[in-house]
Amino acid sequence: MGKKLYGLRLRAARNREDEFLGLLTEYAPYGWEEGEFSNGDILARVYAENSDYLKPLAKACAEAHFEAEKEETDAADPLSAWKEFFTPVICGNRFVILPPWLAEKPFDNLTKVIIEPKSAFGTGHHASTVLCLEALAMLYDQNKLKPGDTFLDLGCGSGVLGIAATLSGLRGVACDIDPLAIDNARENSSLNKAESMKLIQGSLEAVDNARYNLIMANILAKPLIEMAGAITKQIKPGGSLILSGILTSQAEKVASAYMQTGLNEPHEIRKEEWSALVWS
Ligand code: SAH
Repeated sequence: MGKKLYGLRLRAARNREDEFLGLLTEYAPYGWEEGEFSNGDILARVYAENSDYLKPLAKACAEAHFEAEKEETDAADPLSAWKEFFTPVICGNRFVILPPWLAEKPFDNLTKVIIEPKSAFGTGHHASTVLCLEALAMLYDQNKLKPGDTFLDLGCGSGVLGIAATLSGLRGVACDIDPLAIDNARENSSLNKAESMKLIQGSLEAVDNARYNLIMANILAKPLIEMAGAITKQIKPGGSLILSGILTSQAEKVASAYMQTGLNEPHEIRKEEWSALVWS
């Protein structure tokens, strides 16, 4: 008998889009498929191999009064739905994120970052990840980074950002408070032969208090604001900072929290309803 693939079909009114996307980002960090109902309501479908992964999402939807319906599919290949969904994502004309089954596909002049789509966020199918890699590519193009420079990937999820930086010649550390993310990042760093990246479970307090040439943090507006002082302290003088996971409507608030710690005005880049802030 084929294995089952578990799914949740969610529905939200368009006027609650920000709240709904925020909830999905938090509880379905590994990605979702988005569609639209004929009346304009948003449809999101989330799949998992293990139904336990969907429980926190179902609970959060119930609390927020978003409709959530369970789906179960018998799939000959339980990951076939995922596989269709995970297409290559090109970021900043420098990087391409690929699942392992497309690793051999040729991509001229692009650095391939191979990511095993598991429970951790960071398959490249979320605008906030793409924005970070676009920002990283931009810093390279502007010669603001050079081989051997150090980085911190704060909230590394799948490890995608740290791996891209390592493959571009930087050396650094990736950390995440979620042990599943660290497992996934370890698997991915080995798939990409980027094992020189140090992996640490925890947040800023768990990494040593060294200063870095580059800090990348794709988290969410609220924790980014709370950590403003601590993050700024760990940037080397003249270093760069990329913050992402910010809804455009929240970008000004995040920027001002960091400007209060002494940073200049950031450069903002946008994709869909998301913004990333870049200091260099
Ligand atoms: N860097 C990846 C993943 C971003 S998702 C990408 O760009 O795609 C955000 C990650 O941050 C999650 O894995 C979450 O567990 C982690 N996280 C959330 N708050 C954190 C904190 N305070 N310190 C470290 N990691 C955190």
